[in-house]
Amino acid sequence: MNLTCIECKNQVDLSSFSSVAVDSVVECQMCGITLLVTEISDGSVSVDIMDEGK
Ligand SMILES: [Zn+2]
Repeated sequence: MNLTCIECKNQVDLSSFSSVAVDSVVECQMCGITLLVTEISDGSVSVDIMDEGK
């Protein structure tokens, strides 16, 4: 699965998360932002910013 951080536009490595599903929370390793998974389709992951306070 691929996730592009909506904040810093870098690719987030999802292999470090054991399971990624809708409503999962992932953290961008590049900018440290917390992202909430909103949609997964065809190996592409959509997210919303959950917490900008890091
Ligand atoms: Zn980022």
